[in-house]
Amino acid sequence: MLLLNPGPVTLSERVRQSLLQPDLCHRESEFFDLQDEARARLLDIYELDPAEWAAVLMTGSGTAAVESMIAALVPEQGKLLIVQNGVYGERITQIATQYRIAHEVVAHDWMQAPDLARIAAALDADRAITHVAVIHHETTTGRLNDLQALDALCRVRDVRLLVDGVSSFGAEAIDFGGSIAAVAATANKCLHGVPGASFVIVRRSALEQAASRTYYLDLGRLARLQDQRNTPFTPSVHAYYALVEALRELEDEGGWRARHARYAALAERARAGLEALGMPALWPSEQSSVVLRAYRLPARLSYPQLHDGLKERGFVIYAGQGGLSAELFRISTMGNIQLDDIERLLQGFKALTQ
Ligand SMILES: *Cc1c(COP(=O)(O)O)cnc(C)c1O
Repeated sequence: MLLLNPGPVTLSERVRQSLLQPDLCHRESEFFDLQDEARARLLDIYELDPAEWAAVLMTGSGTAAVESMIAALVPEQGKLLIVQNGVYGERITQIATQYRIAHEVVAHDWMQAPDLARIAAALDADRAITHVAVIHHETTTGRLNDLQALDALCRVRDVRLLVDGVSSFGAEAIDFGGSIAAVAATANKCLHGVPGASFVIVRRSALEQAASRTYYLDLGRLARLQDQRNTPFTPSVHAYYALVEALRELEDEGGWRARHARYAALAERARAGLEALGMPALWPSEQSSVVLRAYRLPARLSYPQLHDGLKERGFVIYAGQGGLSAELFRISTMGNIQLDDIERLLQGFKALTQ
């Protein structure tokens, strides 16, 4: 079965085999070697200086990393502006509400790109805002939100950016040189590991002012202990094995740029093929990530019929979220997916729709 859903991904054989390594006690030096390698390799992907940046690991899915980032990095006296144009932006608002973090929301329809003029006006209207949270790739619709444009708004106002990069880290460009204070992400999307390990890439200076609102996901404490080759709790050791192997594989394959190019080739083949079959992509390619794209459902077939027919042929596709489920389906190109898999997928679509 090939997984074309946005994580967990189809594993490479190399990563799958890495799960079979020796049992490891997380209080032994071998575990801390593994943790150190994962942390160093995560920074290497975007050539980040370990003196300025830390990769902080945790056991949990991508949401754990996002929650840890938001709970820690908006200081006690800080205020967060949330840019919302999909399910994951709404999730950050729920997290801020739950932790009683002072926040404002610039809400958009799920089909809209962030409105930069509205965001600028919201920042100018409330000088108490210290941080902006945004989803880089809004997996709800496959839209790649324009990080650089938001970064420019933040930079001139001395506001810090907190990025949910869960479905873009490792495959899309991220400029860490500007106002970004942190990016949260996970092992089991564009990095091709297994679920269970997630992480925050954080500026060390931001950690100095971190708040401590949560016990298990306390980013400041996790960072401090990991810097001392320690860990507060039992980590998902096997997920760390897989993460490290997946990071070695990413490097061997040419890093994030090569992964971007590979996903783009797969996504463009899928886009052209589906369009020819009467299922156009929701966005033009420039507005879309290379990681996942949303397509219009065909006229005569419901999503369950499409899903089940493709599953019989060995592919798991993904539904639209919420109100979009009657209009859209989604196809992700993350994981060990090759061009001939996309060709076979298109043959499956053709057989079902014609
Ligand atoms: C997948 C995803 C998440 C986190 O999902 P988990 O199920 O917790 O791993 C968060 N944000 C975005 C943009 C995602 O695509």
